[in-house]
Amino acid sequence: MTQVLVTGGAGFIGAHLVQALLARGATVRVLDNFVAGTTANLALATGRSLEEVHRALAAGTGPARLGERCQVWAADIRDPAATAAACAGVDVIFHQAALRSVPRSLLDPTGTHEVNATGTLALLEAARAAGVRRLVFASSSSVYGDTEVPQHEGQIPKPKSPYAASKLAAEGYCQVYSRSFGLSAVALRYFNVFGPWQDPASEYAAVIPKFIRLTMRGESLPVHGDGRQSRDFTFVDNVVEANLLAAEADAAGAVVNVGAGDRHTLLDLIELVGKILGRTPQIVHEPARAGDMRHTHADVSLAGRLLGYVPPVDFATGLRRTIEAMTGTEAVADRG
Ligand code: NAD
Repeated sequence: MTQVLVTGGAGFIGAHLVQALLARGATVRVLDNFVAGTTANLALATGRSLEEVHRALAAGTGPARLGERCQVWAADIRDPAATAAACAGVDVIFHQAALRSVPRSLLDPTGTHEVNATGTLALLEAARAAGVRRLVFASSSSVYGDTEVPQHEGQIPKPKSPYAASKLAAEGYCQVYSRSFGLSAVALRYFNVFGPWQDPASEYAAVIPKFIRLTMRGESLPVHGDGRQSRDFTFVDNVVEANLLAAEADAAGAVVNVGAGDRHTLLDLIELVGKILGRTPQIVHEPARAGDMRHTHADVSLAGRLLGYVPPVDFATGLRRTIEAMTGTEAVADRG
């Protein structure tokens, strides 16, 4: 695994992957249109200053260079010229680029489909043309919908949102390219990923960074429904580990859960956030949201057998690390 491409490498999970791949000596390409990704994430992932990243991205045509072993294409995964250039000579693609939010997909099903499903198909085409050995695709636990927990890969998916349907469609294309076109692709169904560098403030922020930020600011936490819905909250290092294993495993065409193999209710999460921060969070109950699942809980036995995956970081440890990272960032933000 010498030359790799990370689509969505300026996003939350993508940036952690870039950091881990650079640390393992890989030459890393990033393809991201910055619709949600940030130059700050790239700076953190590559150990460069924000000014260096901005300078490199502003410097003329072609990919930006961030040191000897990292190049960045500021482009869309549906741009054939950019994907052809970014895929040339690549051994493994870690495909993270997507429009991530369930509520956003309910507002714009077509836009979500175009990026998540059509965009994945476009990337698979570019990968096939370039002779890429393996593509690891970031799918989602949302494909399960309200199935029985713990969810396992043998269950029939029951997607409840356009986002979930777009991920299921993309998984299908990954399997087709493995079975019929000789491009070996593996789909990883991530379960509620969290960790440092995740955006706490955007309109579509994930629940953990959002609740940490609101608690730190003494603001009330909006809980949709009764708060007893539960999630398999998965620390980002676990997801990075699963991707690195999936790049090499004998698993062409497979669809595999990647979670912590555990679940916690939102009320449990809020209590633990309050305990770690030494605050008492205030909750405001709001109506349950369309498209949301009641429970997620990964059966990770297939990931263990096929990839050799054992989740390295548990929920409480991951939450502490996330809060430590965020309190540092907020302290810096407060200083202006
Ligand atoms: P993110 O929004 O931080 O990262 C997605 C990245 O993709 C961003 O940098 C964005 O700019 C880029 N992108 C979006 N559309 C693009 C396009 N058309 N062309 C090029 N780049 C584009 O999200 P994340 O949390 O890091 O998620 C990464 C992947 O994991 C996504 O595919 C997401 O669906 C999947 N996933 C995430 C979670 C989670 O809990 N975070 C759970 C399940 C699956």
